[in-house]
Amino acid sequence: MAQHYDVIVIGSGAGGGSLAHRLASSGKKILILERGHPLPREKDNWDARSVQIDGRYNPTERWRDRDGNPFQPGVKYFVGGNTKVWGAATLRLRPDDFGVVRHEGGISPRWPIGYDELEPYYTQAEHLWRVRGARGVDPTEGPASRPYRHPPIRHEPRIAQLVHDFERAGVRAWNLPLALLLDESRGDGDACIRCDTCDGFPCLVRGKADAEVICVAPALRHHNVSLLTGARVTRLATSASGREVTEVHVEREGVLETYRADVVAVACGAINSAALLLRSANERHPDGLGNRSGHLGRHYMAHQNSAVFALSREENRSVLQKTFAISDFYRAGNGLDYPLGLIQPLNRTPAVLLEHSPPGIAGHGPEHLASHSLEFWITTEDLPLDRNRVRLGRDGEIVVEYTPNNTVPHRKLTEKLAAVLGKVEGDGFSPDAHFRAERMPLSVCSHQCGTMRFGDDPRDSVLNRDCRLHEVENLYVVDASFFPSSGAVNPTLTIIANALRVGDRLLERL
Ligand SMILES: Cc1cc2nc3c(=O)[nH]c(=O)nc-3n(C[C@H](O)[C@H](O)[C@H](O)COP(=O)(O)OP(=O)(O)OC[C@H]3O[C@@H](n4cnc5c(N)ncnc54)[C@H](O)[C@@H]3O)c2cc1C
Ligand code: SF4
Repeated sequence: MAQHYDVIVIGSGAGGGSLAHRLASSGKKILILERGHPLPREKDNWDARSVQIDGRYNPTERWRDRDGNPFQPGVKYFVGGNTKVWGAATLRLRPDDFGVVRHEGGISPRWPIGYDELEPYYTQAEHLWRVRGARGVDPTEGPASRPYRHPPIRHEPRIAQLVHDFERAGVRAWNLPLALLLDESRGDGDACIRCDTCDGFPCLVRGKADAEVICVAPALRHHNVSLLTGARVTRLATSASGREVTEVHVEREGVLETYRADVVAVACGAINSAALLLRSANERHPDGLGNRSGHLGRHYMAHQNSAVFALSREENRSVLQKTFAISDFYRAGNGLDYPLGLIQPLNRTPAVLLEHSPPGIAGHGPEHLASHSLEFWITTEDLPLDRNRVRLGRDGEIVVEYTPNNTVPHRKLTEKLAAVLGKVEGDGFSPDAHFRAERMPLSVCSHQCGTMRFGDDPRDSVLNRDCRLHEVENLYVVDASFFPSSGAVNPTLTIIANALRVGDRLLERL
Protein backbone atom coordinates (compact mmCIF):
# COMPACT_ATOMS: atom_id res chain seq x y z
CA MET A 1 0.00 0.00 0.00
CA ALA A 2 1.46 3.38 -1.07
CA GLN A 3 2.29 5.78 1.75
CA HIS A 4 0.06 8.84 1.93
CA TYR A 5 1.19 12.41 2.68
CA ASP A 6 -0.53 15.77 2.89
CA VAL A 7 2.00 17.28 0.50
CA ILE A 8 4.70 15.83 -1.72
CA VAL A 9 7.33 18.26 -2.97
CA ILE A 10 9.35 16.99 -5.94
CA GLY A 11 12.83 18.57 -6.08
CA SER A 12 14.74 20.24 -3.27
CA GLY A 13 16.27 23.25 -5.04
CA ALA A 14 15.39 26.93 -4.74
CA GLY A 15 11.67 26.43 -5.41
CA GLY A 16 11.02 23.06 -3.75
CA GLY A 17 13.25 23.82 -0.75
CA SER A 18 11.60 27.19 -0.13
CA LEU A 19 8.11 25.68 -0.36
CA ALA A 20 9.02 22.86 2.05
CA HIS A 21 10.42 25.44 4.47
CA ARG A 22 7.24 27.51 4.30
CA LEU A 23 5.00 24.48 4.95
CA ALA A 24 7.17 22.78 7.57
CA SER A 25 5.70 24.42 10.66
CA SER A 26 2.11 23.61 9.58
CA GLY A 27 2.33 20.15 11.15
CA LYS A 28 1.18 18.64 7.84
CA LYS A 29 2.86 15.43 6.70
CA ILE A 30 5.30 16.50 4.02
CA LEU A 31 7.58 14.36 1.86
CA ILE A 32 10.38 15.84 -0.26
CA LEU A 33 11.43 13.59 -3.14
CA GLU A 34 14.88 14.39 -4.51
CA ARG A 35 16.62 12.44 -7.27
CA GLY A 36 20.08 13.43 -6.02
CA HIS A 37 21.91 12.79 -2.76
CA PRO A 38 23.58 15.30 -0.43
CA LEU A 39 26.57 16.82 -2.19
CA PRO A 40 29.72 15.41 -0.51
CA ARG A 41 31.80 17.90 1.49
CA GLU A 42 35.33 17.28 0.30
CA LYS A 43 38.40 19.21 -0.81
CA ASP A 44 37.31 18.78 -4.42
CA ASN A 45 34.46 21.25 -3.73
CA TRP A 46 36.94 24.06 -4.26
CA ASP A 47 39.23 22.42 -6.79
CA ALA A 48 38.82 24.29 -10.10
CA ARG A 49 40.23 21.44 -12.16
CA SER A 50 37.99 18.86 -10.54
CA VAL A 51 34.83 20.99 -10.67
CA GLN A 52 35.21 22.91 -13.92
CA ILE A 53 37.36 20.65 -16.10
CA ASP A 54 36.65 17.12 -14.84
CA GLY A 55 32.99 17.94 -14.10
CA ARG A 56 33.00 16.13 -10.80
CA TYR A 57 29.46 17.15 -9.86
CA ASN A 58 27.90 17.01 -13.33
CA PRO A 59 25.19 14.49 -14.18
CA THR A 60 25.99 11.69 -16.59
CA GLU A 61 22.79 12.04 -18.61
CA ARG A 62 22.69 13.61 -22.06
CA TRP A 63 19.98 15.82 -23.55
CA ARG A 64 19.59 16.69 -27.24
CA ASP A 65 19.41 19.98 -29.07
CA ARG A 66 16.97 20.81 -31.90
CA ASP A 67 19.25 19.08 -34.43
CA GLY A 68 19.46 15.91 -32.40
CA ASN A 69 23.01 16.57 -31.14
CA PRO A 70 23.61 15.28 -27.61
CA PHE A 71 24.92 17.63 -24.93
CA GLN A 72 25.66 17.40 -21.24
CA PRO A 73 23.31 19.74 -19.38
CA GLY A 74 24.81 22.16 -16.87
CA VAL A 75 22.48 21.11 -14.07
CA LYS A 76 23.22 19.66 -10.66
CA TYR A 77 21.25 16.82 -9.10
CA PHE A 78 21.85 17.13 -5.35
CA VAL A 79 19.88 18.04 -2.25
CA GLY A 80 19.64 21.81 -2.73
CA GLY A 81 19.63 21.53 -6.54
CA ASN A 82 21.52 24.13 -8.54
CA THR A 83 21.77 26.45 -5.57
CA LYS A 84 24.59 24.16 -4.31
CA VAL A 85 26.79 25.82 -6.96
CA TRP A 86 25.07 29.14 -7.58
CA GLY A 87 26.72 32.54 -7.34
CA ALA A 88 24.14 33.75 -4.77
CA ALA A 89 23.31 37.00 -6.62
CA THR A 90 19.84 37.74 -5.33
CA LEU A 91 18.09 40.37 -7.40
CA ARG A 92 14.42 41.30 -7.67
CA LEU A 93 12.85 41.70 -11.08
CA ARG A 94 12.18 45.38 -11.71
CA PRO A 95 8.51 46.57 -11.53
CA ASP A 96 8.55 47.20 -15.33
CA ASP A 97 9.40 43.54 -15.93
CA PHE A 98 5.91 42.57 -14.77
CA GLY A 99 4.34 44.61 -17.58
CA VAL A 100 4.70 44.62 -21.35
CA VAL A 101 8.26 45.59 -22.37
CA ARG A 102 9.23 46.33 -25.97
CA HIS A 103 12.56 44.84 -26.92
CA GLU A 104 14.54 44.99 -30.13
CA GLY A 105 13.68 41.30 -30.68
CA GLY A 106 9.96 41.48 -29.79
CA ILE A 107 7.56 41.87 -26.88
CA SER A 108 8.04 40.65 -23.35
CA PRO A 109 4.52 39.92 -22.08
CA ARG A 110 2.68 41.07 -18.95
CA TRP A 111 2.56 38.84 -15.86
CA PRO A 112 -0.81 37.98 -14.29
CA ILE A 113 0.42 39.47 -11.02
CA GLY A 114 2.24 42.74 -10.51
CA TYR A 115 5.41 43.62 -8.61
CA ASP A 116 3.21 44.82 -5.72
CA GLU A 117 1.79 41.35 -5.18
CA LEU A 118 5.21 39.72 -5.09
CA GLU A 119 6.91 42.48 -3.09
CA PRO A 120 6.12 41.15 0.42
CA TYR A 121 7.46 37.77 -0.66
CA TYR A 122 10.62 39.29 -2.09
CA THR A 123 11.21 40.78 1.35
CA GLN A 124 10.53 37.45 3.05
CA ALA A 125 12.80 35.67 0.58
CA GLU A 126 15.62 38.14 1.24
CA HIS A 127 15.25 37.71 4.98
CA LEU A 128 14.98 33.92 4.88
CA TRP A 129 17.96 33.55 2.51
CA ARG A 130 20.01 36.07 4.55
CA VAL A 131 20.60 38.37 1.60
CA ARG A 132 23.13 41.19 2.14
CA GLY A 133 22.48 44.36 0.20
CA ALA A 134 21.63 48.06 0.24
CA ARG A 135 18.40 49.75 -0.80
CA GLY A 136 18.27 52.95 -2.84
CA VAL A 137 21.49 52.38 -4.76
CA ASP A 138 20.17 50.68 -7.90
CA PRO A 139 18.49 53.20 -10.23
CA THR A 140 16.06 50.57 -11.60
CA GLU A 141 15.00 48.90 -8.35
CA GLY A 142 11.37 48.79 -7.24
CA PRO A 143 10.02 49.89 -3.86
CA ALA A 144 10.74 47.61 -0.90
CA SER A 145 8.61 47.37 2.24
CA ARG A 146 11.55 46.53 4.50
CA PRO A 147 15.30 47.10 4.49
CA TYR A 148 17.74 44.28 3.98
CA ARG A 149 18.56 42.67 7.32
CA HIS A 150 22.26 42.58 6.53
CA PRO A 151 24.57 45.21 5.03
CA PRO A 152 26.15 44.65 1.63
CA ILE A 153 29.38 42.77 1.25
CA ARG A 154 32.30 45.15 1.07
CA HIS A 155 34.24 45.64 -2.16
CA GLU A 156 37.85 44.53 -2.17
CA PRO A 157 40.34 47.34 -3.03
CA ARG A 158 40.64 46.65 -6.79
CA ILE A 159 36.86 46.43 -7.11
CA ALA A 160 36.30 49.58 -5.02
CA GLN A 161 38.68 51.34 -7.39
CA LEU A 162 36.86 49.95 -10.44
CA VAL A 163 33.49 51.08 -9.06
CA HIS A 164 34.96 54.53 -8.53
CA ASP A 165 36.44 54.55 -12.05
CA PHE A 166 33.09 53.49 -13.53
CA GLU A 167 31.42 56.38 -11.74
CA ARG A 168 33.95 58.81 -13.17
CA ALA A 169 33.14 57.35 -16.60
CA GLY A 170 29.44 58.13 -15.98
CA VAL A 171 28.29 54.59 -15.13
CA ARG A 172 26.75 53.75 -11.77
CA ALA A 173 27.92 50.51 -10.15
CA TRP A 174 25.98 49.56 -7.01
CA ASN A 175 26.26 46.86 -4.34
CA LEU A 176 25.12 43.51 -5.68
CA PRO A 177 22.79 41.76 -3.18
CA LEU A 178 24.32 38.41 -2.24
CA ALA A 179 23.07 35.48 -0.17
CA LEU A 180 26.31 34.64 1.60
CA LEU A 181 26.64 33.90 5.32
CA LEU A 182 29.30 36.55 5.69
CA ASP A 183 28.89 38.94 8.60
CA GLU A 184 31.96 41.15 8.23
CA SER A 185 31.29 42.92 11.53
CA ARG A 186 31.78 39.73 13.53
CA GLY A 187 35.23 39.45 14.99
CA ASP A 188 35.09 35.65 15.13
CA GLY A 189 34.01 35.43 11.50
CA ASP A 190 30.93 33.92 9.94
CA ALA A 191 30.58 30.66 7.99
CA CYS A 192 31.74 32.18 4.68
CA ILE A 193 35.49 32.75 4.57
CA ARG A 194 35.40 34.81 1.36
CA CYS A 195 37.15 32.66 -1.23
CA ASP A 196 37.67 32.73 -5.00
CA THR A 197 35.75 29.52 -5.77
CA CYS A 198 32.15 30.49 -5.11
CA ASP A 199 30.10 30.94 -8.29
CA GLY A 200 29.97 27.55 -10.00
CA PHE A 201 31.40 25.68 -6.98
CA PRO A 202 29.88 24.03 -3.92
CA CYS A 203 30.81 25.68 -0.62
CA LEU A 204 32.99 23.43 1.52
CA VAL A 205 32.26 25.39 4.70
CA ARG A 206 28.49 25.82 4.16
CA GLY A 207 28.92 29.58 3.94
CA LYS A 208 26.63 29.97 0.96
CA ALA A 209 22.92 30.36 1.49
CA ASP A 210 21.68 27.44 -0.58
CA ALA A 211 18.43 25.52 -0.54
CA GLU A 212 19.90 22.70 1.55
CA VAL A 213 21.44 24.93 4.22
CA ILE A 214 18.65 27.52 4.39
CA CYS A 215 15.53 25.49 3.68
CA VAL A 216 15.77 21.70 3.60
CA ALA A 217 17.91 21.10 6.70
CA PRO A 218 15.77 23.44 8.89
CA ALA A 219 12.55 21.94 7.47
CA LEU A 220 13.74 18.45 8.38
CA ARG A 221 13.99 19.47 12.02
CA HIS A 222 10.18 19.32 12.03
CA HIS A 223 9.04 15.77 12.80
CA ASN A 224 6.35 16.00 10.10
CA VAL A 225 8.82 16.60 7.24
CA SER A 226 10.85 13.86 5.60
CA LEU A 227 13.23 13.65 2.66
CA LEU A 228 13.88 10.72 0.35
CA THR A 229 17.08 11.04 -1.67
CA GLY A 230 18.02 9.10 -4.77
CA ALA A 231 14.28 9.24 -5.51
CA ARG A 232 13.71 10.12 -9.15
CA VAL A 233 10.09 10.81 -9.93
CA THR A 234 9.30 9.16 -13.26
CA ARG A 235 5.59 9.85 -13.68
CA LEU A 236 2.48 11.32 -12.10
CA ALA A 237 -0.72 9.29 -12.43
CA THR A 238 -4.18 10.85 -12.26
CA SER A 239 -7.68 9.76 -11.28
CA ALA A 240 -9.97 8.49 -14.05
CA SER A 241 -11.37 12.01 -14.48
CA GLY A 242 -7.87 13.39 -14.87
CA ARG A 243 -8.70 16.14 -12.36
CA GLU A 244 -6.35 14.99 -9.56
CA VAL A 245 -2.91 13.47 -9.29
CA THR A 246 -3.36 10.25 -7.37
CA GLU A 247 0.07 8.65 -7.49
CA VAL A 248 3.66 9.74 -7.68
CA HIS A 249 5.85 7.06 -9.26
CA VAL A 250 9.43 6.97 -8.10
CA GLU A 251 12.50 5.02 -9.10
CA ARG A 252 14.86 4.53 -6.20
CA GLU A 253 18.00 2.41 -6.59
CA GLY A 254 16.39 0.56 -9.46
CA VAL A 255 13.20 -0.17 -7.51
CA LEU A 256 9.84 1.36 -8.45
CA GLU A 257 7.85 2.85 -5.58
CA THR A 258 4.57 4.72 -5.37
CA TYR A 259 3.59 7.57 -3.06
CA ARG A 260 0.32 9.45 -2.66
CA ALA A 261 -0.54 12.92 -1.44
CA ASP A 262 -3.45 15.34 -1.24
CA VAL A 263 -1.29 17.97 -2.92
CA VAL A 264 1.74 17.53 -5.18
CA ALA A 265 4.19 20.36 -5.91
CA VAL A 266 6.66 19.92 -8.75
CA ALA A 267 10.01 21.77 -8.56
CA CYS A 268 12.48 19.81 -10.69
CA GLY A 269 13.80 22.89 -12.56
CA ALA A 270 11.98 24.32 -15.59
CA ILE A 271 13.29 21.72 -18.05
CA ASN A 272 12.90 18.61 -15.89
CA SER A 273 9.49 19.69 -14.59
CA ALA A 274 8.14 20.11 -18.12
CA ALA A 275 9.66 16.74 -19.07
CA LEU A 276 8.00 15.07 -16.06
CA LEU A 277 4.57 16.39 -17.00
CA LEU A 278 5.09 15.41 -20.64
CA ARG A 279 6.07 11.89 -19.50
CA SER A 280 2.89 11.73 -17.43
CA ALA A 281 0.59 11.83 -20.47
CA ASN A 282 -2.43 9.55 -20.14
CA GLU A 283 -5.83 9.06 -21.76
CA ARG A 284 -7.25 12.21 -20.19
CA HIS A 285 -4.09 14.20 -20.88
CA PRO A 286 -2.85 12.77 -24.18
CA ASP A 287 -0.28 15.52 -24.79
CA GLY A 288 1.09 15.70 -21.26
CA LEU A 289 -0.47 16.63 -17.93
CA GLY A 290 -2.47 19.84 -18.14
CA ASN A 291 -1.49 20.53 -21.73
CA ARG A 292 -4.80 21.39 -23.36
CA SER A 293 -3.32 24.79 -24.22
CA GLY A 294 -0.43 23.11 -26.06
CA HIS A 295 1.94 25.36 -24.09
CA LEU A 296 3.50 22.74 -21.82
CA GLY A 297 7.26 22.83 -22.46
CA ARG A 298 7.03 25.95 -24.63
CA HIS A 299 8.34 29.49 -24.11
CA TYR A 300 11.59 28.13 -22.72
CA MET A 301 14.02 30.91 -21.78
CA ALA A 302 17.50 30.96 -20.28
CA HIS A 303 18.69 34.55 -20.88
CA GLN A 304 21.28 35.70 -23.38
CA ASN A 305 24.30 35.38 -21.10
CA SER A 306 27.94 36.02 -21.88
CA ALA A 307 31.06 35.62 -19.79
CA VAL A 308 33.45 38.50 -20.43
CA PHE A 309 37.18 38.33 -19.80
CA ALA A 310 38.99 41.67 -19.87
CA LEU A 311 42.73 42.07 -19.41
CA SER A 312 43.42 45.10 -17.25
CA ARG A 313 46.67 46.99 -17.15
CA GLU A 314 46.48 46.84 -13.37
CA GLU A 315 46.75 43.80 -11.19
CA ASN A 316 43.56 42.35 -9.79
CA ARG A 317 44.23 40.45 -6.58
CA SER A 318 40.56 40.33 -5.60
CA VAL A 319 39.32 37.11 -4.07
CA LEU A 320 35.53 37.59 -4.08
CA GLN A 321 34.95 40.24 -6.72
CA LYS A 322 31.28 39.66 -7.45
CA THR A 323 30.09 42.58 -5.33
CA PHE A 324 28.60 45.13 -7.73
CA ALA A 325 26.17 45.40 -10.64
CA ILE A 326 25.37 47.95 -13.35
CA SER A 327 21.80 48.52 -14.48
CA ASP A 328 22.28 51.74 -16.50
CA PHE A 329 21.48 49.84 -19.70
CA TYR A 330 18.54 47.85 -18.30
CA ARG A 331 15.81 50.08 -19.70
CA ALA A 332 15.10 51.96 -22.93
CA GLY A 333 15.58 55.73 -22.71
CA ASN A 334 18.62 57.87 -22.01
CA GLY A 335 19.82 57.32 -25.54
CA LEU A 336 18.85 53.63 -25.71
CA ASP A 337 16.09 52.62 -28.16
CA TYR A 338 15.47 49.37 -26.30
CA PRO A 339 16.68 47.57 -23.15
CA LEU A 340 20.11 45.95 -23.26
CA GLY A 341 20.43 44.24 -19.89
CA LEU A 342 22.48 43.88 -16.71
CA ILE A 343 26.23 43.72 -16.04
CA GLN A 344 27.82 42.12 -12.98
CA PRO A 345 31.23 40.62 -12.22
CA LEU A 346 31.92 36.93 -12.46
CA ASN A 347 34.19 34.73 -10.37
CA ARG A 348 37.95 35.12 -10.80
CA THR A 349 39.39 32.79 -13.43
CA PRO A 350 42.13 30.61 -11.90
CA ALA A 351 45.29 30.05 -13.97
CA VAL A 352 44.54 26.34 -14.27
CA LEU A 353 41.42 27.13 -16.31
CA LEU A 354 43.34 29.57 -18.49
CA GLU A 355 45.85 26.83 -19.36
CA HIS A 356 42.97 24.67 -20.45
CA SER A 357 40.88 27.25 -22.22
CA PRO A 358 42.71 30.53 -22.83
CA PRO A 359 40.50 33.48 -23.78
CA GLY A 360 42.43 34.14 -27.00
CA ILE A 361 44.35 37.15 -25.73
CA ALA A 362 47.76 36.75 -27.29
CA GLY A 363 51.13 37.42 -25.73
CA HIS A 364 50.40 36.57 -22.08
CA GLY A 365 50.80 33.39 -20.08
CA PRO A 366 48.05 31.97 -17.83
CA GLU A 367 49.58 33.44 -14.65
CA HIS A 368 49.60 36.99 -16.05
CA LEU A 369 46.09 36.62 -17.47
CA ALA A 370 44.82 35.31 -14.12
CA SER A 371 46.41 38.11 -12.09
CA HIS A 372 45.29 40.95 -14.40
CA SER A 373 41.83 39.85 -15.45
CA LEU A 374 38.49 41.46 -14.77
CA GLU A 375 35.60 39.05 -15.33
CA PHE A 376 31.99 40.00 -16.03
CA TRP A 377 28.66 38.27 -16.58
CA ILE A 378 26.30 40.13 -18.86
CA THR A 379 22.63 39.29 -19.22
CA THR A 380 20.01 40.30 -21.77
CA GLU A 381 16.36 39.34 -21.68
CA ASP A 382 15.44 36.16 -23.56
CA LEU A 383 11.96 36.39 -25.08
CA PRO A 384 9.33 33.66 -24.57
CA LEU A 385 9.00 32.18 -28.05
CA ASP A 386 6.54 29.43 -28.82
CA ARG A 387 9.16 27.54 -30.85
CA ASN A 388 11.72 27.48 -28.04
CA ARG A 389 10.64 24.46 -26.12
CA VAL A 390 11.30 21.29 -24.16
CA ARG A 391 9.94 18.07 -25.64
CA LEU A 392 10.59 14.37 -25.34
CA GLY A 393 12.60 12.47 -27.93
CA ARG A 394 11.66 9.06 -29.25
CA ASP A 395 13.32 7.26 -26.34
CA GLY A 396 11.82 9.64 -23.80
CA GLU A 397 15.01 11.68 -23.52
CA ILE A 398 14.88 15.46 -23.08
CA VAL A 399 15.14 17.58 -26.21
CA VAL A 400 15.62 21.34 -25.86
CA GLU A 401 14.74 23.14 -29.09
CA TYR A 402 16.16 26.60 -28.78
CA THR A 403 17.08 29.42 -31.13
CA PRO A 404 18.69 32.48 -29.51
CA ASN A 405 16.68 35.68 -29.85
CA ASN A 406 17.01 39.34 -28.90
CA THR A 407 20.69 38.99 -29.74
CA VAL A 408 21.24 42.51 -31.12
CA PRO A 409 20.83 44.16 -27.69
CA HIS A 410 23.11 41.53 -26.23
CA ARG A 411 25.83 42.41 -28.71
CA LYS A 412 25.28 46.09 -27.94
CA LEU A 413 25.56 45.43 -24.21
CA THR A 414 28.89 43.72 -24.85
CA GLU A 415 30.03 46.75 -26.85
CA LYS A 416 28.86 49.12 -24.09
CA LEU A 417 30.93 47.23 -21.54
CA ALA A 418 33.97 47.26 -23.84
CA ALA A 419 33.52 51.01 -24.35
CA VAL A 420 33.18 51.73 -20.63
CA LEU A 421 36.25 49.63 -19.87
CA GLY A 422 38.07 51.53 -22.60
CA LYS A 423 37.32 54.78 -20.75
CA VAL A 424 38.37 53.30 -17.44
CA GLU A 425 41.52 51.60 -18.65
CA GLY A 426 42.72 54.51 -20.78
CA ASP A 427 44.03 54.75 -24.33
CA GLY A 428 46.01 51.52 -24.23
CA PHE A 429 42.83 49.41 -23.99
CA SER A 430 41.57 47.84 -27.18
CA PRO A 431 38.54 45.54 -27.40
CA ASP A 432 40.39 43.40 -29.93
CA ALA A 433 43.50 42.94 -27.84
CA HIS A 434 42.12 42.94 -24.28
CA PHE A 435 38.50 41.93 -24.31
CA ARG A 436 36.76 38.60 -25.01
CA ALA A 437 33.06 37.85 -24.66
CA GLU A 438 31.85 34.26 -24.87
CA ARG A 439 28.15 33.66 -25.29
CA MET A 440 26.85 30.83 -23.15
CA PRO A 441 25.76 27.79 -25.17
CA LEU A 442 22.51 25.84 -24.77
CA SER A 443 24.13 23.44 -22.28
CA VAL A 444 24.59 26.32 -19.80
CA CYS A 445 20.96 26.34 -18.80
CA SER A 446 21.63 27.88 -15.38
CA HIS A 447 18.93 30.54 -15.84
CA GLN A 448 16.34 28.16 -17.29
CA CYS A 449 12.75 29.35 -16.93
CA GLY A 450 9.41 29.38 -18.72
CA THR A 451 8.00 26.02 -20.04
CA MET A 452 4.74 26.31 -18.01
CA ARG A 453 3.84 29.94 -17.86
CA PHE A 454 1.20 31.10 -15.41
CA GLY A 455 -1.78 33.21 -16.42
CA ASP A 456 -5.51 33.74 -16.07
CA ASP A 457 -6.48 32.33 -19.46
CA PRO A 458 -6.24 28.52 -19.65
CA ARG A 459 -5.99 28.75 -23.43
CA ASP A 460 -2.80 30.74 -23.13
CA SER A 461 -1.09 29.36 -20.01
CA VAL A 462 -0.45 26.07 -18.21
CA LEU A 463 -0.67 27.30 -14.60
CA ASN A 464 -3.17 29.62 -12.96
CA ARG A 465 -2.04 32.62 -10.95
CA ASP A 466 -1.54 30.39 -7.88
CA CYS A 467 0.79 28.20 -9.99
CA ARG A 468 -1.69 25.32 -9.91
CA LEU A 469 -2.30 23.52 -13.20
CA HIS A 470 -5.51 24.87 -14.75
CA GLU A 471 -6.60 21.31 -15.45
CA VAL A 472 -5.38 19.42 -12.36
CA GLU A 473 -6.76 20.50 -9.01
CA ASN A 474 -4.01 19.29 -6.69
CA LEU A 475 -0.89 19.82 -8.81
CA TYR A 476 1.31 22.92 -8.34
CA VAL A 477 4.60 23.97 -9.89
CA VAL A 478 7.01 26.07 -7.81
CA ASP A 479 10.26 26.30 -9.75
CA ALA A 480 11.15 28.71 -12.58
CA SER A 481 8.67 27.10 -15.01
CA PHE A 482 5.98 29.68 -14.22
CA PHE A 483 7.90 32.73 -15.60
CA PRO A 484 5.93 34.33 -18.48
CA SER A 485 9.03 36.43 -19.24
CA SER A 486 12.59 36.33 -18.01
CA GLY A 487 13.58 39.94 -17.33
CA ALA A 488 17.35 40.31 -17.32
CA VAL A 489 18.20 39.68 -13.67
CA ASN A 490 19.28 36.37 -12.17
CA PRO A 491 16.10 34.36 -11.61
CA THR A 492 16.37 32.74 -8.22
CA LEU A 493 15.09 35.37 -5.80
CA THR A 494 11.91 35.46 -7.90
CA ILE A 495 11.64 31.66 -7.77
CA ILE A 496 12.01 31.73 -3.98
CA ALA A 497 9.56 34.61 -3.50
CA ASN A 498 6.99 32.89 -5.68
CA ALA A 499 7.42 29.55 -3.88
CA LEU A 500 6.73 31.33 -0.57
CA ARG A 501 3.67 32.99 -2.14
CA VAL A 502 2.35 29.64 -3.40
CA GLY A 503 3.15 28.19 0.03
CA ASP A 504 0.76 30.68 1.61
CA ARG A 505 -1.98 29.67 -0.86
CA LEU A 506 -1.34 26.03 0.08
CA LEU A 507 -1.47 26.76 3.80
CA GLU A 508 -4.92 28.33 3.24
CA ARG A 509 -5.99 25.29 1.22
CA LEU A 510 -4.65 22.71 3.67
C1 LIG B 1 26.84 27.87 -11.83
C2 LIG B 1 25.51 28.51 -11.52
C3 LIG B 1 25.48 29.78 -10.97
C4 LIG B 1 24.25 30.40 -10.69
N1 LIG B 1 24.26 31.63 -10.10
C5 LIG B 1 23.08 32.22 -9.83
C6 LIG B 1 23.05 33.48 -9.18
O1 LIG B 1 24.08 34.05 -8.82
N2 LIG B 1 21.84 34.04 -8.95
C7 LIG B 1 20.68 33.44 -9.34
O2 LIG B 1 19.60 34.03 -9.14
N3 LIG B 1 20.69 32.23 -9.92
C8 LIG B 1 21.85 31.61 -10.17
N4 LIG B 1 21.85 30.37 -10.74
C9 LIG B 1 20.56 29.75 -11.09
C10 LIG B 1 19.93 29.04 -9.89
O3 LIG B 1 20.77 28.04 -9.42
C11 LIG B 1 18.58 28.47 -10.35
O4 LIG B 1 17.79 29.55 -10.84
C12 LIG B 1 17.80 27.80 -9.25
O5 LIG B 1 18.55 26.84 -8.57
C13 LIG B 1 16.57 27.15 -9.87
O6 LIG B 1 15.76 26.67 -8.84
P1 LIG B 1 14.71 25.51 -9.15
O7 LIG B 1 13.99 25.22 -7.91
O8 LIG B 1 13.93 25.91 -10.35
O9 LIG B 1 15.58 24.26 -9.62
P2 LIG B 1 16.87 23.57 -9.02
O10 LIG B 1 17.54 24.40 -8.01
O11 LIG B 1 17.67 23.09 -10.16
O12 LIG B 1 16.28 22.30 -8.26
C14 LIG B 1 15.66 21.25 -8.95
C15 LIG B 1 15.81 20.00 -8.09
O13 LIG B 1 14.96 18.99 -8.61
C16 LIG B 1 15.66 17.74 -8.61
N5 LIG B 1 15.02 16.92 -9.64
C17 LIG B 1 15.06 17.10 -10.98
N6 LIG B 1 14.30 16.16 -11.59
C18 LIG B 1 13.78 15.38 -10.61
C19 LIG B 1 12.93 14.24 -10.61
N7 LIG B 1 12.44 13.73 -11.76
N8 LIG B 1 12.61 13.66 -9.43
C20 LIG B 1 13.09 14.18 -8.25
N9 LIG B 1 13.92 15.25 -8.20
C21 LIG B 1 14.24 15.86 -9.37
C22 LIG B 1 17.08 18.15 -8.92
O14 LIG B 1 18.00 17.15 -8.51
C23 LIG B 1 17.22 19.43 -8.12
O15 LIG B 1 17.64 19.18 -6.81
C24 LIG B 1 23.05 29.71 -11.00
C25 LIG B 1 23.08 28.43 -11.53
C26 LIG B 1 24.29 27.82 -11.80
C27 LIG B 1 24.30 26.41 -12.37
S1 SF4 C 1 33.42 30.43 1.61
FE1 SF4 C 1 32.09 32.12 0.98
S2 SF4 C 1 32.91 32.80 -0.98
FE2 SF4 C 1 33.78 30.74 -0.59
S3 SF4 C 1 32.33 29.29 -1.57
FE3 SF4 C 1 31.68 29.52 0.54
S4 SF4 C 1 30.14 31.13 0.44
FE4 SF4 C 1 31.32 31.29 -1.44
